[in-house]
Amino acid sequence: MEVQATFPRRLTKQVMVGDVPVGGGAPISVQSMTVTRTADHEATLQQIYDLALAGADIVRCTCNEPEAAEGLAEIVPRSPVPIVADIHHQYRMALAALEAGVDCLRLNPGNIRKPEHIKTVASEARDRGVPIRIGVNGGSLHPDLYAKYGNVVTPEAMVESALEEIGYFSEVGFDLIKISVKASSVPLMIDAYRQLAEVTEYPLHLGVTEAGPLPGGLIKSTAGIATLLAEGIGDTIRYSLTADPVEEAKAGRFLLESLGLRERKNVDLIACPSCGRAEIDVVSVAEQAMAAFAEREIPLQVAVMGCVVNGPGEARDADLGIAAGNKRGHLFIKGKNALVVPEDEMVDTLVEWADFIMENGTEAALARVDVQRAEREAARDRERLLEEQGQDANDSGTRIEMIKKHIDG
Ligand code: SF4
Repeated sequence: MEVQATFPRRLTKQVMVGDVPVGGGAPISVQSMTVTRTADHEATLQQIYDLALAGADIVRCTCNEPEAAEGLAEIVPRSPVPIVADIHHQYRMALAALEAGVDCLRLNPGNIRKPEHIKTVASEARDRGVPIRIGVNGGSLHPDLYAKYGNVVTPEAMVESALEEIGYFSEVGFDLIKISVKASSVPLMIDAYRQLAEVTEYPLHLGVTEAGPLPGGLIKSTAGIATLLAEGIGDTIRYSLTADPVEEAKAGRFLLESLGLRERKNVDLIACPSCGRAEIDVVSVAEQAMAAFAEREIPLQVAVMGCVVNGPGEARDADLGIAAGNKRGHLFIKGKNALVVPEDEMVDTLVEWADFIMENGTEAALARVDVQRAEREAARDRERLLEEQGQDANDSGTRIEMIKKHIDG
């Protein structure tokens, strides 16, 4: 059953990144970043399309050289999603990116330090109505703040860096702001965001920086981002993985769907953990199903279960599922047995019926099958399995007896 998020969201101001609202109660958006040379605008656009298809609402491209700014001028008008320019050390690159028509800038206060440069960029962004993300990064904190806090990166130092930048912006009347205080340490970034949320009303962009390759990077990012989202903190998110950026977009999207913060777009595939009763290699069939559903926008919960003895019951809340038994696949729809197919057709059957349900609905699907017959067939295979394997297929009872013997001496 789909569970919607119940935790309250922190109320923030709203900025528009192109046509995507960030903060102010808007749906939490997913961001990712291209890894192509921005100057190679065709390759970058291809990647932006891939990211948008995978679930990214906003994409960031580096603007580190004049050729990159020229690339952005080609990219922005053809991009399916708003583009953020990532600025490193040269404030002139920020001005060039604005000229290229980008929808947002990201400035790192630790890298562009001269107040007059910061204010020049903010004035130009103000005149064009383009927001700026203040992107504080624990690894490149402003040296003065690093020294002030005893040559250690602390949450207080990161928050102070963001507030100082807001101060420069407000001197020129610029307030189209969102903020991030990322660190590669999860506890540090959680603390920094919590403190920042206490002292500002601007929307926050969440991320664990340099989280690393899969699967560790995914877990670190999720630990940091999900903790804050569950506290109502965060308006847009980015996974920073050492992996194909498509994985970042997918992960971001999946996290929001899992937390009930965005509507489901793709299949939510659930699978049993397998046990002594399993009649199939559950991992392999689940992987085949995952691959078969990968490119389809089917917002259903689909179950792959190892046996017909417990599978349909354990996954009764899924929209549809399939359980193995006696070399056959038992398709069930909303917990009701619907159809029996040969085992090697299990994945194809799932896809075919998911398509049918998307087009016609669950009731129409159930009306198309003989539920009574399917239940009889399932009962037959269930009984056969119980006969063969007994009530205790995992042989836990024998093991427990042995354990007792050891303990009792
Ligand atoms: S009892 Fe069946 S459905 Fe449950 S974990 Fe074992 S194989 Fe999977």
